[in-house]
Amino acid sequence: MGIVNPSRAARMLNRIVFDVTYNCTLDCPNCNRLCGVFPRKNDISLSKIKGFVDSSIEMKKYWVHIFIAGGEPSLHPEIDSIFKELKRYVLFFKKEFKANSIVKYFTNNHSKKAQDRLKNLPDFINMVSNSDKKNAGTRFKPMLVAPIDLNFYDDNHLMPCQELYNCGMTLNYKGYYPCAEAAAIDDTFLKKDMAIEKLADVNFNNMVEILHHTCRYCGHYFEPLGFKRSEKLMISQTWKQHLKNMQIRI
Ligand code: SF4
Ligand code: SF4
Repeated sequence: MGIVNPSRAARMLNRIVFDVTYNCTLDCPNCNRLCGVFPRKNDISLSKIKGFVDSSIEMKKYWVHIFIAGGEPSLHPEIDSIFKELKRYVLFFKKEFKANSIVKYFTNNHSKKAQDRLKNLPDFINMVSNSDKKNAGTRFKPMLVAPIDLNFYDDNHLMPCQELYNCGMTLNYKGYYPCAEAAAIDDTFLKKDMAIEKLADVNFNNMVEILHHTCRYCGHYFEPLGFKRSEKLMISQTWKQHLKNMQIRI
């Protein structure tokens, strides 16, 4: 497979991020879901969340953390029902593992809707990341700089970035991906529908296989070189061409 550290990379299998929507009220240039450059409104279905909860309970799955993110999650029209579904897992977790789940909610807090939602989160959400307009655009490292454009990619020595180990895999409206960035790259550029549909089918090999398609286009791959977070959009040839093909002006 060529991945450097399989034991560490396995961390992606016990941490999960829900990208419940790609809809957002902001358009940060280096958004790591590419919501700024490729605005889109793909909402996860309630049945996908229900499927996640059912499978997690059936598999007695221990999730180290669950992140509720996007896009701006408060824009999902069924966010209350999503919370209700997740509560089923949280109650199961408490009973099975005698502990509270770590459930974190990510919001840009930049609209009345987002602010109202933040004031009324269910109790089981025990952590919040609240980035307001001032810093939302500077939180991310450039995404649209493809390692293959700068000769910084060798498929035989795939070296996924820390995102994979720290945040874990992602469930979006299509299914499961190894990381949120891979999901966004497939959604906006590759369009290969690489998502694994069912949680029970997710394994180390099929997640790494997806990374072999996506890391080569992801600016976060430059992590070892210390890429800085930036407000300015940085973009390399492959992405420029894609924007041109899509007739997107930036
Ligand atoms: S607020 Fe977050 S999700 Fe929205 S465009 Fe900015 S970085 Fe992306
Ligand atoms: S380099 Fe990009 S696609 Fe690869 S693991 Fe990191 S965030 Fe995911």
